Amino acid sequence: MTANLLDYDLEGLVVFCERLGEKRFRATQLFRWIHQKGATQFDEMTDLAKSLREKLKTSACIRSPTIIAQHISSDGTIKWLFDVGAGDAVEAVFIPEEGRGTLCISSQAGCAVGCRFCSTGHQGFSRNLTSGEIVTQLWFAEHFLRKHLKVEERVISNVVMMGMGEPLQNYAALVQSLKVMLDDHAYGLSRRRVTVSTSGIVPMMDRLGMDCPVALAVSLHAPTDALRDDLVPLNRKYPIAELLDACKRYLAYAPRDFITFEYCMLDGVNDSPAQAMELAALVRPKAGEGAWCKFNLIPFNPFPASGLLRSPQAKVVAFAKILSDAGFVTTIRKTRGDDIDAACGQLAGDVKDRTDVVRRISKQRTIMLKPVNEPGMQRKEGVNGK
Ligand code: SF4
Repeated sequence: MTANLLDYDLEGLVVFCERLGEKRFRATQLFRWIHQKGATQFDEMTDLAKSLREKLKTSACIRSPTIIAQHISSDGTIKWLFDVGAGDAVEAVFIPEEGRGTLCISSQAGCAVGCRFCSTGHQGFSRNLTSGEIVTQLWFAEHFLRKHLKVEERVISNVVMMGMGEPLQNYAALVQSLKVMLDDHAYGLSRRRVTVSTSGIVPMMDRLGMDCPVALAVSLHAPTDALRDDLVPLNRKYPIAELLDACKRYLAYAPRDFITFEYCMLDGVNDSPAQAMELAALVRPKAGEGAWCKFNLIPFNPFPASGLLRSPQAKVVAFAKILSDAGFVTTIRKTRGDDIDAACGQLAGDVKDRTDVVRRISKQRTIMLKPVNEPGMQRKEGVNGK
């Protein structure tokens, strides 16, 4: 069986090369060709000996999952739907902003946590992605964008693990993929530019701090256990007090960082001034503690099965003001990609029934980028309304 080299971190490639009778530095060369240059053919790798290229052709490949669909929003946000087999599809979303480009990627097909306000959570869980499937979303998007923008330098400056899935429930693959993102021979992203978002799996937060302390965002969404039990069922296992303690322990591994608390604004549920004050009191630094957290308020993206509504903008602004007057850096997330269902909590309509995903997507206003035969991209005709 040929090995897909996108599945390997640098150490894995070293072992692979040694099995082929090659020295360690060959693995570094290969790693750079794959991740820094987006090479898909071994013949492109001109500084590798011809004999090695021939060996690689028979034993390895560089292959990303098929792209089922690609959409560009009127605001420049791009969403890709990747086929990961057996009817499962996952999404990655590129969000261009002034001075930076953020890629939001998925860690699982579906999600078992079942947060009430999350469309992915309502689908249930299908399976964990492999490390290669996680990294490939970045590999594909980065090299696709470079080609289309006709630039050689890096386009994606930030990665957020906020797509489908709870990353800390796919821990081994997550950490391996983070290491590739941070590796100077691959993407060389600084650890502060890679964010893992979790619903609060306390023991795994501790492990992540020790193994790979990237930026951490925590889905809080409620100031009390009673409400959070309802919105984020995992709270019944790891209640707020335990979660906050874990956040503070995490910062011991990530000095001078802040925990970002994500707070999805739900009309009449968690958006009152009294709840904002409760929230501020909950995370107020204790005597001797410096500022340790900030807030990101997320306008809810309604979907029919949720039975929830988006908070009116005036309520969101008032909520933000209370937090900010209490001394917390507070941002209100701009909704991006609304017209292509790429906004937060809207990812992948139905991973079980891909035909339905395709049907749903094909109805959306979709613009295909051209050409579509980018690194590893295999186009499926008949998708995107054609
Ligand atoms: S918000 Fe995150 S953890 Fe919660 S159900 Fe959605 S994908 Fe899973």
